[in-house]
Amino acid sequence: MSAPLHTLGVAALSRLLAVGQVSSVELSRELLARAREQAALGAFLAIDESVTQAQAEAADARRARGQATALTGVPVAHKDIFVPRDWPSTAGSRMLAGYQSPFDATVVARLGPAGAGMVTLGKLNCDEFAMGSANENSAFGPVLNPWDRSRVPGGSSGGSAASVAARLLPAATGTDTGGSIRQPASFTGITGIKPTYGVCSRYGMVAFASSLDQAGPLARSAEDCALLLSAMSGFDERDATSAEQVPQDYHAAMLAPRVGSSAARPLQGLRIGLPEEFFPAALADDVNGAVRAALAVLEQLGATLVDVSLPRTELSIPVYYIIAPAEASSNLGRFDGVKFGHRAAQHGDLLDMYKKTRSQGFGLEAKRRIMIGTYVLSHGYYDAYYLQAQKLRRMIADDFQACFQHCDVIAGPVAPTVAWEFGRMGDDPLQAYLADIFTLPASLAGLPGMSVPAGSGDHGMPVGLQLIGNYFTEATLLQTAHALQQATDFHTRVPPGF
Ligand code: GLN
Repeated sequence: MSAPLHTLGVAALSRLLAVGQVSSVELSRELLARAREQAALGAFLAIDESVTQAQAEAADARRARGQATALTGVPVAHKDIFVPRDWPSTAGSRMLAGYQSPFDATVVARLGPAGAGMVTLGKLNCDEFAMGSANENSAFGPVLNPWDRSRVPGGSSGGSAASVAARLLPAATGTDTGGSIRQPASFTGITGIKPTYGVCSRYGMVAFASSLDQAGPLARSAEDCALLLSAMSGFDERDATSAEQVPQDYHAAMLAPRVGSSAARPLQGLRIGLPEEFFPAALADDVNGAVRAALAVLEQLGATLVDVSLPRTELSIPVYYIIAPAEASSNLGRFDGVKFGHRAAQHGDLLDMYKKTRSQGFGLEAKRRIMIGTYVLSHGYYDAYYLQAQKLRRMIADDFQACFQHCDVIAGPVAPTVAWEFGRMGDDPLQAYLADIFTLPASLAGLPGMSVPAGSGDHGMPVGLQLIGNYFTEATLLQTAHALQQATDFHTRVPPGF
């Protein structure tokens, strides 16, 4: 046998499984052993060999019956925001420690044994309720960046990104409310896509900010992301905001040649817009350099670069940090110690039980957001903050539509810097909020966004190129990223020692 199994991505493993060169049981056993060896990264929150083994056996049996999909038997793990029936779910919070869902999240069901047949290796660490940009807000400890253990892996899908980057998994699920798929993908040198709001069902995702939350895959290539996205997306009547679209084969769509293209110029005719606000003077030189170099490759591949403007880019920070906490304060109201989750052991009357439960169960960042959210929604402040934010959100979405008059895809950095060192943000949450500047606009507009490896910056740390498309143009983003990955090797680079 040639390449070790952990070095292979989804498409490559799918081919090996199809020809019977490896069984799912062997594959999952080997990757689980690797996950255990690398436990110090902090990526996994739950592993259960017996559940994995049963799923792998079922996948092998399904292949033997000739009923396999491309993903049957390929290992995956889920961000702890998704609730599977067979695994505990914490959402990175003490509030949900020990909680086990009675049902499968739609994304989990569609990827798992009842759907595509992927084999679950476990649950992945994340910021508490997906609030954060560094995975430092998890109640169960941080996740280390495999490129440099003194640096953060990004967040909130830090466990998903670190485990894929460290070759513990070929792919993982994540969620993105304001950048939580794109930014950790960028910080760890992997590929991630947040589809258009509504493409993946939110049913069974622990809610943070419901008008923004969106699931998506993190993997090592655009091709692998396309394979997962095709399986996990699609209309779901159990999510009231699910998009009523017919099932898409993103992989086939991504590979379909563009009109007028050639092998040398696969992106012929593609107009890529560069918003001037995404390249401010404050953008780190190393990030700017890597992003510009990747754009030059896209140009060689046939794309045309055009200047566009997203004038309210800066406003997306205050707008997001009003709307997201407002929705969070409402969503987290359900954790009251009565129905499920943590309940204070010692308490007085009902009000005292609520107070103690919530004081003990929530971490600092969750409490901060509950307070901000409650404040901006309160009588007297609603008009001044929440309503204004909603109006600006609409204008931010309109700005994108003005850009898409001139381009098909918008490109820029994912984050203003490479992954920072633990503790560098200190106790100042504002610093971390500001670093979300390039991911928040697409989230507020509900547009699809992607992070694609674009080489390395300072300290050898990965830099991601962000691609943003118009609604439901995931296939165009994936095609653009795929063309880049056919022409460059950024996405194949492995953290030293892995
Ligand atoms: N960093 C942003 C926040 O803290 C985004 C998180 C996310 O996308 N879940 O809210």
